[in-house]
Amino acid sequence: MRISRQSRSSNHLRRIVAEMGIPVPWNRDQLVAGVAARRGRPIHLVPVSHSLVQGGHSGLWLARAEDDVILYAAGTSDVHATHIICHELAHMELGHDRTALGDRSVDATALSKAAPSVDPSSVVTALGRSNYSSAQEYEAELLATLLMARRGGNTSAATTDPRASRILGSF
Ligand SMILES: [Zn+2]
Repeated sequence: MRISRQSRSSNHLRRIVAEMGIPVPWNRDQLVAGVAARRGRPIHLVPVSHSLVQGGHSGLWLARAEDDVILYAAGTSDVHATHIICHELAHMELGHDRTALGDRSVDATALSKAAPSVDPSSVVTALGRSNYSSAQEYEAELLATLLMARRGGNTSAATTDPRASRILGSF
């Protein structure tokens, strides 16, 4: 029997979710702490204005020498912000930094303005949408959606997004 690429990928992602050992339901702090513990590096969440994180992606992963910073678009709902953070955590869990494409430098001027608490010179690599292949983006979004589905409480963002519903429906 032929196993489709889609279901192989789904199994892989389900295995990652199981390995993460997150409580159901989880809260954002527990999830972030769990991923940080698995990576052996602290993860800091920094809300920023939309101007820094564009392209509909709404999140950016800044890798530093000793920790990781997730910038996420502020001024959105808590559920949406959590989904953005889940997406960036998914890129971490999937090791997408190892195969990142293109320019990985941070725009120091934009960063200083959007997130004054983050010293641009401390950023080793900045990973946003343009640094990933579309297959990686799809995989990260799928994993984020799986995580959001286990969040409990108000999951309206995961169920009203037609793409997310389609993804969930395919499992
Ligand atoms: Zn992404």
